[in-house]
Amino acid sequence: MNTQPNDLRVYVEDDRTGTTVEALKRALADNLYYIQGKDESFANLYDYYMALAYTVRDRLVHRRIKTAQAYYEKDTKVVYYLSAEFLIGRLLINNLINLGLYEPINQALQESGLSLDSLIEGEEEPGLGNGGLGRLAACFLDSLATLEIPAIGYGIRYEFGIFDQEIRDGWQVERPDNWLRFGNPWEIPRPDYMVEVKFGGHTESYTDASGQYRVRWMPRITVYGTPYDIPIPGYGCNTVNTLRLWAARAGQDFDFHVFNAGDYTQAVAAKTFSENISKVLYPNDHTPQGRELRLQQQYFFVSCSLQDIIRLYLRKHNNFDAFPDKAAIQLNDTHPAIGVAELMRLLLDEHQLEWDYAWDITRRTFAYTNHTLLSEALERWPVSLFGRLLPRHLEIIYAINHEFLMEVRQRYPSDAGKLMRMSLIEEGEEKQVRMAHLACVGSHTVNGVAALHTELVKKELMRDFYELWPQKFQSKTNGITPRRWLLMSNPPLAELITEKIGDRWLKDLDELRKLEAFVDDPQFRARWRQIKHDRKFSFAQYIQRHNGIEVDVNSIFDIQIKRIHEYKRQILNALHVITLYNRIKANPDLEIVPRTVIFGGKAAPGYFMAKMAIKLITSVADVVNNDPDMRGRLKVVFVSNYSVSLGQFAYPAADLSEQISTAGKEASGTGNMKFSLNGALTIGTLDGANVEIREEVGAENFFLFGLTAQEVTDLKMQGYRPIDYYNSNPALKQVIDQLASGFFSPKEPTLFMSIIDSLLNHDEYMLLADYQSYVDCQEQVSQAFRDYENWTRMSILNVARMGKFSSDRTIAEYCREIWNVEPVSIELGTYSQSDAGLKIPKVPELA
Ligand SMILES: *Cc1c(COP(=O)(O)O)cnc(C)c1O
Repeated sequence: MNTQPNDLRVYVEDDRTGTTVEALKRALADNLYYIQGKDESFANLYDYYMALAYTVRDRLVHRRIKTAQAYYEKDTKVVYYLSAEFLIGRLLINNLINLGLYEPINQALQESGLSLDSLIEGEEEPGLGNGGLGRLAACFLDSLATLEIPAIGYGIRYEFGIFDQEIRDGWQVERPDNWLRFGNPWEIPRPDYMVEVKFGGHTESYTDASGQYRVRWMPRITVYGTPYDIPIPGYGCNTVNTLRLWAARAGQDFDFHVFNAGDYTQAVAAKTFSENISKVLYPNDHTPQGRELRLQQQYFFVSCSLQDIIRLYLRKHNNFDAFPDKAAIQLNDTHPAIGVAELMRLLLDEHQLEWDYAWDITRRTFAYTNHTLLSEALERWPVSLFGRLLPRHLEIIYAINHEFLMEVRQRYPSDAGKLMRMSLIEEGEEKQVRMAHLACVGSHTVNGVAALHTELVKKELMRDFYELWPQKFQSKTNGITPRRWLLMSNPPLAELITEKIGDRWLKDLDELRKLEAFVDDPQFRARWRQIKHDRKFSFAQYIQRHNGIEVDVNSIFDIQIKRIHEYKRQILNALHVITLYNRIKANPDLEIVPRTVIFGGKAAPGYFMAKMAIKLITSVADVVNNDPDMRGRLKVVFVSNYSVSLGQFAYPAADLSEQISTAGKEASGTGNMKFSLNGALTIGTLDGANVEIREEVGAENFFLFGLTAQEVTDLKMQGYRPIDYYNSNPALKQVIDQLASGFFSPKEPTLFMSIIDSLLNHDEYMLLADYQSYVDCQEQVSQAFRDYENWTRMSILNVARMGKFSSDRTIAEYCREIWNVEPVSIELGTYSQSDAGLKIPKVPELA
């Protein structure tokens, strides 16, 4: 007789994972009926979206199981990417593309009387990150899976992601992002892998059976972490990795205990404490708030993840000798840096290892990525808070510090300054734990995210550490996934490229170089231009719908979308807009190249200057857009609620990419890469990855302006006086005076005094020093745009030379030079992927 498991498998592969149009149609109908619980007479668009998502999910699950089996059987080394943020974007189209299901699903939907376009908008975007750092983690997951690298991303399942931004009366208003309201079809809860996380209380020492000194942590509260797995498929391969996000829950036993003891309120309070931990993402980019809940979040997800990693390891091992050969743990910034102390605690207290052995394992397992040079962004936690929340970790950190400082003292006898600077503990009125130092001391490798950034990390930010351990420092220039940021966001361009050079660029972005052969082909250029025109037209319609502003599709689409931050200098861009406005007002018949200056980005809710910048932009827009003298030559737009989905729509529509941070402040940037990959030209400073983008695309295809990082430092040293620039530059003076006089805020003339005060008296980010250089460079941009044939040529060359900025390249470097991991290819047995060659998706629409 045939055995049941075999019968089961035949069923599974045929009906639930089949990729023929017939199988997909049957699955859609089935899922609508049995999962959504509706038939055609009651189903709405959202039900169809869910039915479709579950249809895709079944195919993911099948590959996920095969992938997990292969990793387990081969006992491969696994990359564990720890990140407090994963800004993954919508998953439906991405999953369809990576699985090779786009075409058959499209057909199955059509034959069922549905259209993919109408269902896409049913998906909530998981906004589990603030900006570049979270988005980088998402691009890395895509590349890891595509390169067939065993990997798990670990993070937090925030119940509320980054807030939704509305603009009211020109100001940012925040709305909660209740993204899980209607359920999330992409996640699989794994309550069986739940773990316990302790907080507070005190420690006790004791002597174990073998006479060893040991410490026991007696916590005040225990919280439970439940993992939710999101499958991450690679492109054009069978690998499906996992993003494992932890949700916090109260420990039931604990509640019950206190409840019975009669303290009802305390029981409820403890429950609230636990469930608050994964409640909301802190909406700050580059400025940690130093709040207790934030440290709780960090420790919570790190402890859950490390316990999970150890559980996975111990399935195949009975001691820790091979741990660093089976686990590479990457710390994405200092948010998970507490992991260094937590792994030590787990090895010492839970697994009874000895200190030196545990420390050796820890240092051979962790690596740390630094993401910022801004001093206010460096995480420090008050020792008092640390001791209250994580008493055992504070002891371990003191012990690590003791050993570390002995090493420093040995190497640099009688250099008290060095000891002070390098210590894990910052002395002062309030003692603080320096998380970047902990991450560095506990890791075998520290990396910066672009060449210039790494140099500044070595020479400035972590100079003492670099002197002590020069071999520890590496550079890994960031990248972006070409699947989401070209194929998915710009299908017509992807199709044209594929028509000319084939589809290998999707897995090897250096292939784009072959486009250079067509740069002088007039027909090719015409099609290139038409695609850009179409993308601009779509975005113009979006602006018409959302902002009620009519923009000229033939004007320069000059776009700055990114988080609002002083160092990113949105205000410098606004000063240029006002300068153009004044020129036209002074000479109403001026022949200038029409421009549409588009801004977008969220401000941290407590960041006063960033919110003022938004109000400034919207105020300037009100005046400029309503002045009949402009006659369509200048428009200003602030698009609200910048997100991954909006980015996918906006980057392809840009002619000009604004990358204008003060040199030395933007670690890398990845928005710069997305624009360039979609054929925009960059106006930028020599900062972050701009330096390398310019190197790749050629100086003649990049609009460079401004001080260099060295010049910024030198000017600061000499004593920078912004007021001198104001006094000596009449155009600049006019702009500042208008802002100060209330020209752009007639109802409240002093509205922008805080900005004026900051610019004239401090100007930390040197906007005034760079103003003239920027305005001149913008004039060059306008002149270049007049010669649209040549502009197109530059646009093509930008795309053709972007190969370096694929996150596949970045990840391949991490694998080789930091993680020492190898790919594992996944066989599906009898079942094989239907995809043969590239399927180009349709042009995305945004409601
Ligand atoms: C790429 C991206 C960023 C990072 O942009 P930068 O210009 O590098 O700051 C931020 N947010 C979203 C949604 C992104 O897609």
